[in-house]
Amino acid sequence: MSTETSQDRLEVLASIWAGNARATSNEFFELYKDDPDAARLAGYEVEALRTAAAKVARTGYGIPLATRLPLAQWARRLELDMEDKRVSVRTSREVERMINVGRTAPPVVSGFPASVVSEAVRRLTERNADLSKLAHRSPRPARWRQAPSAKLLWAPVIAADEAEVAIVAILSATRGEWLFSLSSKSRMYTHSRHGWAKNEEDRTYVAGLSDIIDTVGGVIESHRGGGGRVYLTRHVVQCAECRLVIASIEEPYTTGPKAVGRCSASRRR
Ligand SMILES: [Zn+2]
Repeated sequence: MSTETSQDRLEVLASIWAGNARATSNEFFELYKDDPDAARLAGYEVEALRTAAAKVARTGYGIPLATRLPLAQWARRLELDMEDKRVSVRTSREVERMINVGRTAPPVVSGFPASVVSEAVRRLTERNADLSKLAHRSPRPARWRQAPSAKLLWAPVIAADEAEVAIVAILSATRGEWLFSLSSKSRMYTHSRHGWAKNEEDRTYVAGLSDIIDTVGGVIESHRGGGGRVYLTRHVVQCAECRLVIASIEEPYTTGPKAVGRCSASRRR
């Protein structure tokens, strides 16, 4: 537990501010002693204060670096950082839980041989190693058997072995058809509703964990021109908005209706 008091933090706040403004801490207290933003900022951990201050100073916001660090922007930046941290922590716990279910409850990944499931769990554990970065982990590179192109007569084909398909099953919050969504900020997540998960707390971000899911993120982006939902099955990826097949896995999908051009369903946020 931290033993810092709010007064200590105010002192640190003043020194960070003064360091940035090339001013004195006294000036800070003079200017901001009754400022509600200063009181808000003093409620945060020192490390978080420093990180947010550095970000505000770096981006500048059109403010010369050697002037006062604007408290309201500092506080806003800090709140965004805290929200990111909450999303990371919640997401990493949820992914860990899913890996454990995959490891201990084979029915979740029924139909896959035990050796495939254990390989899937091994890859997931390795990719999930840095939990702190989960909310903002970079997607894995797209993996194609046949990449999207104007000449392609069928939906593009994603390259994936059975263990990668089992990973999709483990990471999905829905059964049978595995639903995943691309957020408006181009981040793939899973959620237990078949509708749209508007609230952050209903989303589990899964970028960087699966070759298939990350490749599908790019497919949704070009099909939808933004975010959208997809159903994955073992063999095809179907747009959940227009119901057309937008990609297949390992084998070309040549038999049924597939997406040609952009999605006809409406945009979502
Ligand atoms: Zn569509």
